[in-house]
Amino acid sequence: MAEKKLTKERALLIAKAHACAHCKEYTYRRLTVKVAPKAIAEELNAVWVATKICGVCDYKEEIGIAEDGEVVFSG
Ligand SMILES: [Zn+2]
Repeated sequence: MAEKKLTKERALLIAKAHACAHCKEYTYRRLTVKVAPKAIAEELNAVWVATKICGVCDYKEEIGIAEDGEVVFSG
């Protein structure tokens, strides 16, 4: 079985590489990554949900990250 699991560390890096949707900065005051809730996992294929608070404009954003490292939603 060649099951590739996206690690939490990798998910964090992907979240960090995702600019703030509001001011396009990459500075975060707070960044956490949690396992995606079942509903989100099934509906959007996300395995991790990152919650970020921008260090520049304080904008709070949630990002869903899929198994293959793709950002499947943000907002
Ligand atoms: Zn911002």
